[in-house]
Amino acid sequence: MSKNTVIYRKYRPQSFDEVVGQEFVIQTLKNALAHDKVAHSYLLCGPHGTGKTSIARIFAKALNCKNGKEKVVCLECESCQEIEKGIAPDVIEIDAASNRGINEIRELREAIRFLPTKSSYKVYIIDEVHMLTKEAFNALLKTLEEPPDHIVFILATTEQHKVPFTIISRTQKFNLRHLNREEIDNQLAAILKKEGVEMDQETRALIVASAEGSLRDAQSILGKVLAIGATDNKQVRDVLGIANTQHIVLFVEHITQQRRDEAIVLLGTVVASGIDLDQFIQTVLQFVRTILLVKMSGGESLDTMFYFSKEEKDTMNRIAQDVGNRQLLALIKEMLDASQAVKYSPIPQLPIELAIVQLTPGAEEKSGSTERSADEAKETKEESPHETEDSPEEKPKTTKRVSKRTTVKKTTKTSSTRSKKTPQKTSAKTKRTTTRRKKSEE
Ligand SMILES: [Zn+2]
Repeated sequence: MSKNTVIYRKYRPQSFDEVVGQEFVIQTLKNALAHDKVAHSYLLCGPHGTGKTSIARIFAKALNCKNGKEKVVCLECESCQEIEKGIAPDVIEIDAASNRGINEIRELREAIRFLPTKSSYKVYIIDEVHMLTKEAFNALLKTLEEPPDHIVFILATTEQHKVPFTIISRTQKFNLRHLNREEIDNQLAAILKKEGVEMDQETRALIVASAEGSLRDAQSILGKVLAIGATDNKQVRDVLGIANTQHIVLFVEHITQQRRDEAIVLLGTVVASGIDLDQFIQTVLQFVRTILLVKMSGGESLDTMFYFSKEEKDTMNRIAQDVGNRQLLALIKEMLDASQAVKYSPIPQLPIELAIVQLTPGAEEKSGSTERSADEAKETKEESPHETEDSPEEKPKTTKRVSKRTTVKKTTKTSSTRSKKTPQKTSAKTKRTTTRRKKSEE
């Protein structure tokens, strides 16, 4: 068993008290137990890793616990122990993703007629229930309509919209929520303490942010990180493929200050160091969004702030003062577009490079005709001799257009030398981009 599985299994909640978040669900289930008002079927909806299966198992324990009256779940009786080990004969877990047909549900319908072997209830936990076929759903529906008294169904799904309404209406439904960052961080801190490992809050925040509200993911990532022995900020960043936030801060500053070349070079560094570009864009977006929110509300207490260190927060405040809302909005929009485009781009960083070009029109004014290097001038001449016949001084307008074109060309050239997957496609794309830009300028 790998270490990440160990961490995740080792710290899986065993009783209601150990479940993080989902207070409403837990309280309602406890009330039902206390007042003997257990429903025949429950539906737990929510994102993955938020505790659906854990809650289902704990509820099964509570239903069959020999000491349930006093302790809800004692964790000591035979039933509790067997459920914990996954060997309880009266608690049947079905993964609908791999048992989705009508035959499985027919078998289930046969089986539920028999009384529990040694417990009060026979509990069926059907995970990923939305995966069932239409026929299987119909068969299940009949079962849910008139289940025997000794049966409790606990259905769980990450995709509620795929569960037929007829099924939902026959269950007691709960929506589980994403955990917030503090809740996940507290759990990680507790686990690290028990494991005797030191990790500062800033480093834990990287794991928390990567887990996106899923405690299970956070635990898996922590396991992965610990298995490699990574505990400091840089090591954890490397394991997770997260760009250094210094890179993010610099990147945003280069763009807002119209330093196009620096931004593109920095992006090259990020790509070369094997950072996941998707993650890079996410972090840039998170950063800029936070700046925008800071501008609007002085949002020191914002949840997104959690991700960044004191220094980075200072930088955010500085950028918030220097940069206008419109520029920040444009940055967000271009990066959002790029985040979609990187998934399909033959050259992963190309969409980000184009975004940089779009976002730094000021760079073109800076690098006017007089500042152009000899190389650039030569390149321009080779590509479009008819346009550069006259000296730049005589025809400033044309020259400016040509120099813009050169910049775009240069950008894409940089990327194609870095990754030579499909050069012919690149040139086609470059041409298209160039044409589009020229058109829009005229
Ligand atoms: Zn028990």
